[in-house]
Amino acid sequence: MDFRLTEEQSMIRDTTHKFVDEVVEPQAEELERSGKYPYDIINRMADLGMMGIPFPVEYGGSGGDWVGMHICIEELSRGDATLGALLDVTTSVVAQELYEFGTEEQKQKWLVPMAQGKEIGAFGLTEPGAGSDAGATKTTAVPDGDEWIINGTKQFITNIGLDNASLVIITARTKASEAGARDEINTF
Ligand SMILES: Cc1cc2nc3c(=O)[nH]c(=O)nc-3n(C[C@H](O)[C@H](O)[C@H](O)COP(=O)(O)OP(=O)(O)OC[C@H]3O[C@@H](n4cnc5c(N)ncnc54)[C@H](O)[C@@H]3O)c2cc1C
Repeated sequence: MDFRLTEEQSMIRDTTHKFVDEVVEPQAEELERSGKYPYDIINRMADLGMMGIPFPVEYGGSGGDWVGMHICIEELSRGDATLGALLDVTTSVVAQELYEFGTEEQKQKWLVPMAQGKEIGAFGLTEPGAGSDAGATKTTAVPDGDEWIINGTKQFITNIGLDNASLVIITARTKASEAGARDEINTF
């Protein structure tokens, strides 16, 4: 097995390293102190194609791979871990879920703007009584005609409440699809 970085992965590492030195590090301490969200930095990350590295070009991405994606997250986190977490959540648990399981309509509506960096996503699993133990999820989703009624409380959700957060995928307990089986946990 060849563990050397590909030309593209090396380019991502070098570009992100330079970006962190020049743009992120000079602002990181002040951002930490003020708690302000760095919309300008996110826009520049989007311009560099960081928000869509592993997704195909037809879905707004760069057609790269997940090793490249994680090199980018690692380098960003060197300067400011908030940016690494923001990128990780948007790509790994929101955009990737849409890419793997979403309908074409959902991909066009949410994945494309996310991969282009115009919007970001959030994933809500953790609850006051369910963190490591995701099976203890209490939030419920009950069908009501063509819709679902969701009730519950989530906490510690990265990216939530930001101006450009367009989609939050949450986990919720649903009744088992087969009689006698245990409840299921699905994402909405
Ligand atoms: C920076 C940050 C970002 C986050 N972003 C998100 C997000 O976007 N979406 C989201 O849903 N959640 C998010 N979370 C929440 C995170 O997923 C939970 O905090 C995590 O799952 C732990 O759950 P908890 O806080 O309830 O702790 P608990 O599960 O209560 O764990 C408390 C302690 O008990 C230990 N422990 C737990 N179970 C066991 C066991 N069976 N055996 C031995 N030890 C155990 C744990 O290791 C830990 O030390 C984020 C958290 C942080 C810190």
